[in-house]
Amino acid sequence: MVVATGPRKPEVSPGSAGKQTGDQAVSPIVPFLDLKRQFAGIREEVLTAVTRVLESQQFILGAEVEALEHELAAYVGAKYAIACASGTDALLLALMAVGLMPGDEVITVPFTFVATAACVARLNAKPVFVDILPGTYNLDPASLEKAIGPRTKAIIPVHLFGLAAEMESISDIAKRHGVPVIEDAAQAIGCHYQGRAVGTLAAMGCFSFFPTKNLGGAGDGGFITTDDPALADKLRVLRVHGSRTKYEYELLGINSRLDALQAAILRVKLQHLDEWTAARQRNAEQYRALFAEYGLQRLVSLPAVPTKGTHVYNQFVIRTVQRDELREHLRRAGFPTEIYYPAPLHLQPSFAYLGHKEGDFPETESACREVLALPIFPELTHGQQRMIVGAIADF
Ligand SMILES: *Cc1c(COP(=O)(O)O)cnc(C)c1O
Repeated sequence: MVVATGPRKPEVSPGSAGKQTGDQAVSPIVPFLDLKRQFAGIREEVLTAVTRVLESQQFILGAEVEALEHELAAYVGAKYAIACASGTDALLLALMAVGLMPGDEVITVPFTFVATAACVARLNAKPVFVDILPGTYNLDPASLEKAIGPRTKAIIPVHLFGLAAEMESISDIAKRHGVPVIEDAAQAIGCHYQGRAVGTLAAMGCFSFFPTKNLGGAGDGGFITTDDPALADKLRVLRVHGSRTKYEYELLGINSRLDALQAAILRVKLQHLDEWTAARQRNAEQYRALFAEYGLQRLVSLPAVPTKGTHVYNQFVIRTVQRDELREHLRRAGFPTEIYYPAPLHLQPSFAYLGHKEGDFPETESACREVLALPIFPELTHGQQRMIVGAIADF
C-alpha cells in the first residue's frame, strides 16, 4: 500500500540480509542473517503445511488464516488478532480504524522504519515527531505531552529493536488527553513489559511477518491485535475493501489479506518462536560477556538492559562515535553489519514538506550517526560471536 513518491534507494528493512554494497566485496565469514539455517531445521514441517494448502486450493484468508489468528491472539494474550498483508498495512488499517482524517495529527518518533510515519502521511494526516531516549532508542515520554494538540488523533510508540517503549508514562499521558495509542510492535513479538506482552498494552498492536522479523513469513504479512470487539470487527471489514457482505461496501477499505500459504508456514514457525527468542536472548548475553571479557564496554555502548520486562533482540545494536570506521573494519574482516537507521525520518526527502531541519531531534540524529547492528539471529554460534567481538577489539 505504500506508494513511492520519488526516486530513492531500495528500501532496507530491519535485518534485511546484508548485501555488500562496498567497493571491494568481501565474502562474509559470519553472515549478518542466515535464514537458511532456520529453514533447515523446520523443512519437513513447512513442506507438509505448504502441501496441505496447495491440496486445499484455498489461498485467500480461510481456515488456515483463521487458525493462525486464534494462535496469534493466544500467543500475544489479546482477545483478537486480525491478519493482513504486511506490517505497513497493519499500521495503515489501525489508523483507518481510529478514523484518521486528512489534517489530523499522529505523534511518533523519527527514529524508526519509514512505514511508521508514512502510513500517517498516506492518509493525508500529519506525522508529528518527538525525540527518542538515547539509552533505549524509544519515544521520550517527557517530549510527548508538549506535542499533543487539538488535532492529535493517535500516538504510535515503536518498540524498537525488540524492547518495549515506556508504555506506562505514554499510556498515562495519552489517557489524560483521551488519545488512543497504537503500538508499532513490528520488531517486538513476544516482548513483555510489566508482565504483559506488547500488543496488549494499548488500543491496538501492529506486527510484521517480514522475513527478517522474529516471526518471519515466506514473504510479506502482518497482523493487528486488539481487545476491543468493535475495532476487531472494523479491521476485518477494512481489510476486505470495507465489505462485510459480498458486493456491499459499508466502509472505504483496502485489499490487505494474508495468504493461506503464509498462514500455514507461520503456524509452523510460531511453534518455534519461543525457542528462537530464547536463543536471541542467550546470544545477547554472550555478547555482553564477550564485550566485558575484551574490556570494550567503555568504548562502545551495548543495548539497554530492560528494567520493566524483556528484550527480544530483533536487533542487537551497539553504539560508538567511530561507527563508520568500525563498520568498514568489520566488513573488511568478513563481518558484515547493518545500520538501523542511517537517516532520521524528519530529514528524509519524502517528509521535507514538514519543514524540519537538522538539529530538530538531536537524540535521533546522533543515534543515526552512531548505531551499528551486529548479527543476532538464533542460530549464531558462540564461536562466531567471539570472532566478531575479537574483530571489534582489534579495531
Ligand atoms: C518492519 C517494520 C514495519 C513494517 O512492516 P512490513 O511488514 O515490512 O510492512 C513497521 N514498523 C517497524 C518498526 C518495522 O520494523
